[in-house]
Parts: sequence; structure tokens; C-alpha cells
Amino acid sequence: MTPAGGAPRVRFAPSPTGYFHVGGARTALYNWLFARRLGGSFVLRIEDTDRERSDEAWTAGIMSSLEWIGVGWDEGPYRQSERRALYEEASDRLYRAGRLYACDCTRADLEARHPGNSTPGYDGHCRDRGLERGPGRALRFRTSDEGVTVVHDVVRGDVEFANASIEDFVVVKSNGDPLFVLAVVVDDLDMRISHVIRAEEHLPTTPKAVMLWDALGDGPPPIFAHLPVLVNDKRQKLSKRRDRVAVEDYRALGYLPEAMRNYLALLGWSPADGRELLSLAELVEEFRLEDVNLSPAFFDEKRLQHFNGLYLRALGSAELVERAAPFLSPPVAPWPEDAFDQTEFDVLAPLVQQRVATLGEVPAMVEFLFASPFAPDEQAFEKAVMGDEGARGLLESARDAFASCEWDAADLKEALSAVADAAGRKLAKAQAPVRVATMGRLVGLPLFESLAVLGRERALERIEAAIARLGAG
Ligand code: GLU
Repeated sequence: MTPAGGAPRVRFAPSPTGYFHVGGARTALYNWLFARRLGGSFVLRIEDTDRERSDEAWTAGIMSSLEWIGVGWDEGPYRQSERRALYEEASDRLYRAGRLYACDCTRADLEARHPGNSTPGYDGHCRDRGLERGPGRALRFRTSDEGVTVVHDVVRGDVEFANASIEDFVVVKSNGDPLFVLAVVVDDLDMRISHVIRAEEHLPTTPKAVMLWDALGDGPPPIFAHLPVLVNDKRQKLSKRRDRVAVEDYRALGYLPEAMRNYLALLGWSPADGRELLSLAELVEEFRLEDVNLSPAFFDEKRLQHFNGLYLRALGSAELVERAAPFLSPPVAPWPEDAFDQTEFDVLAPLVQQRVATLGEVPAMVEFLFASPFAPDEQAFEKAVMGDEGARGLLESARDAFASCEWDAADLKEALSAVADAAGRKLAKAQAPVRVATMGRLVGLPLFESLAVLGRERALERIEAAIARLGAG
């Protein structure tokens, strides 16, 4: 299974230049699942050589998101910024062996030699000039003009690149900084990586990596697996400007990590029998790199939401209460810290659980209990109270009936049914103004169970306030 035999060693190598992209999370998960089933190792390597764009805060975000979806690393995090000496040693070695040559061509030189071409490839100008290396001179890898470089890819089969199509590429910049392609190969060699599982966008540079690997290593290059790109509903590559792509955002919205993980696993792969809900153990058992498909994977937020709803409803009530906790205090919840009452919430939690797709939707469901001061939604009030001629009479009768009935869901329902009958209305029609007056909105938890928890005093006060807003007579 590995070029050298033995357990595979894989790496996840994010560049910490922004929020953690769901595509990155899918790559990490596939690496991890692959390693887990085969008893291999998963290495975390932070590719932070771009000093301007990299930030420790992004690294922390990536690590915490990985932990959140349950992808732990066996080694690392290694940081490329701390490994520069290794890249220098490798480029020295390649230079001494004649595999690199110094080049002082600037972009302007290239453009002047190829007028009218805005993206001229390198023309080999310095190949045989015998320049000494030094400040202001880049080091380029001397590629072959003949033959092919083959990338062995588990997902795509063997992909061949004509060597003549690959220019003498830069390995060390004119300012002395090693290029990304060199750092990656040096690290993959040093870390004895057997399988490189990464995004499709890296495929075009892979022949360069293979050439460097052949020049630096003493064994076959790793086996590659380039994963299909993630697209949105318009079949466009997911982009942070257009689409919600940050794992951190999904976490903040109240997605469950197990739902996220399950959904991510299906972006490019599915088990043979097409099952969709898979536990972590099942994923580890069934995931196969060779079954990853080539076609772009549609990242469908609605489907993820559907998955999340299924996972949420499968939780035990106590578990739901525990998972919801971070969403029930400020600043996430729209009420002051001391307004929350755990006992009241716990009573309604099973009803909440049936009605939300994310934990982020929980506060709105119970806001009527904890918001202070309470104020009904304006639009709902205008529609169901102001806009209903019979609302005043109905609210007055409801107030009177609620003043003396037993205070539990069944008795409240009976009381309002009698009020509805007397007013010649269906119960649902009678509920609307009462619901908006007491719960502030037209949709949400069932009215009578909610009133039972709200309590007589608060319910009557709110109905009174609604009547008062309607004004006299
Ligand atoms: N650092 C690269 C990225 O974040 C990954 C490179 C690789 O996996 O080889 O896209």
C-alpha cells in the first residue's frame, strides 16, 4: 500500500492565511480516515512560509477546527517557517549537483524578449550562462526536454506530463527564499510521507514535485491522490467571497461536528451501498481512497443543514441541553446572562429539538421566556393582532379564561378552545393573536406547552399589554 511498504504516513499541510475552508477540512478528513484504517500516521504541517499572509491566529483556528471535527494529528504541528535550514541544505545540494542554475532574468527581461506575450514562460535564457549563484539571482531547476513525468494518482490513475512542457522552474527566489514546491518536497521526504492526499488545484505543479523528489530522494515518490474540487449550486468553485466556506462559521451557527464530519466525508466519496449517515467508526472502516470520484463535489449547505437536523434529533435530551448551552448565554443569545433559567429551558428542550436544524436556531425558539424586556415582533403583531378585528375580544376572553383555569398545557388548550368556540373561530385562528401577544412571533414552539412554562403571571401581563396597545374600544 505504500511505496516503501509498511503503514502509510500522510500529512495535512494547510497554509494559515485565512479562515479554515471546508475544502481543507475535507482534505484533512480524507487523510485522517485513510491513515486510521491502515494504522498509519497523520502529520500536521503548517505551511507558513508566506510571512505576509500567514498568521498564528489562523493556525490556531485550523487546529481548533480540526479538533472540533475529531481529526487529531499523530505528529506536529511542524512549521515550515522553522525549517528553512533544511530547504537551504537541499537547494545547496541540488546546486552542487548541477540540477539548479542561477538566473538573473527579471520579469521585464522576459517580457522584452517575448513582446506581446503577457505571461511568457521561462525561455531557458540563463541555462548555459554559467552564472554564479548570489544575491539577486534566483535558482532554477533544469528540467529535461525529453520524455514524460508520470504522477501516480489513486483517484486519476497515471497522469503524464511531457517534460518539454515544463519550464525550468524557480526553486529559490532571487531574495533567497525557498519556493513552496521545494519546501513541500523537502518536508515530504524528511517526514517520510507515503501518500500525498490534497486538493486538485495542486495537480499541475505535481510533476515539478516529482522531479524534485527524484533529484533529492533515494526512493520512489509518494503516491498521490488529488481530490475533486468543491463547487456551489451554480457549479462554481467555492469561494470565500461568494459562499459560506469557513468551518468556523458553521461551528458558530450551531452545526454539530459529527454532522459536519459525516457530510464532509461524502463530498467526493460514498460507501458502496450508498448509505448516507455514517458514524466515525463506519467512516474509518469503509472509506477508500480509490473510491473517491473525479467529478466536482457539490457543497450543498441545505443538505448539510438537513444532516445536522437528523443528528440533532438523534441526540438524547440531556445531550441536546448540553450542546445547546453555549448558544444560550450572551453574546450569542439575545438576553442578559441572569435572564436564563435552565429549568424552564429543560422542560421545553425536547420540543425545541424537534424544530431546529442548527443549535443557532435554539435561542429564537425560547427567546419569549428570557428576553427582557419582552417585546413581540412588530410585523407579527401588526398582522395577527392589529390586523385582526376580533383580536381584542379574543384576547380579553382568553385573559379571563386563563385567569382561573388550571395552568397546564391540556387545561390551557381546553380554555382557549372554549373561547374560540364562543367566538365562532377555529382553534388555530384563535391561537394566532394569543401566540403573538405571549410568545412574540407567529411560528415556534407549540403554544400551550410554552404558556405552561411561561406561567400565569407573565402570560396575563403580556395579554394585558397587547390589549392596551390596541387602545380603548
Ligand atoms: N499548503 C497547501 C495548501 O494549503 C497544500 C500543499 C500540499 O498539500 O501539498 O493548499
